[in-house]
Amino acid sequence: MTELKKLFSRIDSYREELIDLETSLTAIIAMSPKSGGDGEQKKAEFIKEYLKKHGIGDIKEVNSKDPTVSCGYRPNLIATIPGKDHSKAVWLMAHMDVVPPGDLAKWDSDPWKVCVDGDKIYGRGVEDDQQGLSASVLAARAFIDEGIVPPVDIKLLMVADEETGNELGIGEIMKNPPFGKDDYIVVPDGGTADGTQVEVAEMSILWLKVITRGVQCHASMPHKGANAFKGGARIAVALDELYKIFPAQNSLFDPPHSTFEPTKKEANVPNVNTIPGEDVFYVDCRVMPEYKLDDVIARANEIAQKVAKESGVSCEIEVVQRSDAAPPTPADAPVVKGICKAISDVYGVKPIAQGIGGGTVAAHIRKEGFNAVVWCKQDETMHGPNEYAILSNILGDAKVFAHLIFNA
Ligand SMILES: [Zn+2]
Repeated sequence: MTELKKLFSRIDSYREELIDLETSLTAIIAMSPKSGGDGEQKKAEFIKEYLKKHGIGDIKEVNSKDPTVSCGYRPNLIATIPGKDHSKAVWLMAHMDVVPPGDLAKWDSDPWKVCVDGDKIYGRGVEDDQQGLSASVLAARAFIDEGIVPPVDIKLLMVADEETGNELGIGEIMKNPPFGKDDYIVVPDGGTADGTQVEVAEMSILWLKVITRGVQCHASMPHKGANAFKGGARIAVALDELYKIFPAQNSLFDPPHSTFEPTKKEANVPNVNTIPGEDVFYVDCRVMPEYKLDDVIARANEIAQKVAKESGVSCEIEVVQRSDAAPPTPADAPVVKGICKAISDVYGVKPIAQGIGGGTVAAHIRKEGFNAVVWCKQDETMHGPNEYAILSNILGDAKVFAHLIFNA
């Protein structure tokens, strides 16, 4: 048997141990204080013990202060499984925190007590992100249990605070980034049911509130006022220009271009026979990472001011939400090629490097100039009632990680 086959069959032998691990992790409720919990410290303690018991003793702790939890800090762990070459590492990053269960009446079982039904395991956190955490740990364990020294270091990064802003989790880690430029960084915290989506990029998100002001008057005497609704409507249509001003095409995304769409419209006057003196609508912009949101805001303002002037009204644009995309990880980066090869070998599917709407945890890593991919094979039941993970997917994902490490 080849060494890789040995690793795979070792991983297959972990099914019962995987259920035990998911059971223990789920029973330790690790919600952030912002969600009414007491943080991840107890879960982190369990994970440390578990890793030590299975031969992983090199564990570094990066705690961030948080006076709102009883231990006073939020834990982040970096466990190292030394390889032959220490100049490079494969990082597998998962988060320890979970979201609240929500309406318990919508659950068919206790969210904190796993329940196994065939190939599915149910419970809060079993998928998000204990699928990623378990698959990473089992991939590392396979090397140890088979006595195979990995070609490069394996780094298991387990962070806090993913669900409520990342500041005390990967945010804290990135104050002193532990990554090397050639390292592979994989974040198993998002993917599709067929396992083909390898997320490498994200768009910027920008929400604009457009306020148009005119003069209210009786509808039969429009010359005595200035119709803010008519002015606003002209602005909404004119903003379609943004599609032409920011035309970049990028096949990583679906659709492969930026979008600028007027969406929500606030009510103006309650009666039909009054010309509105004020009008408010919103624009949802999804912008390709190569464009700066400040430029989009400036051009939107130019268009709006010009049309407002022509329409005899005034206009103001407010930014109500903005998230600037990190630079994408190139689709031909070694980590992307490595994981795509691993996915196609393990699952027999053709993976595709893709961009998504925005706001992923990998952005924190990409912003500092490191390549990172987000991938796992999952049904995405996270955050809902009856969250589940598929056991054979977790074991399959562990094989993908073992393959990636083995060939790094
Ligand atoms: Zn998650």
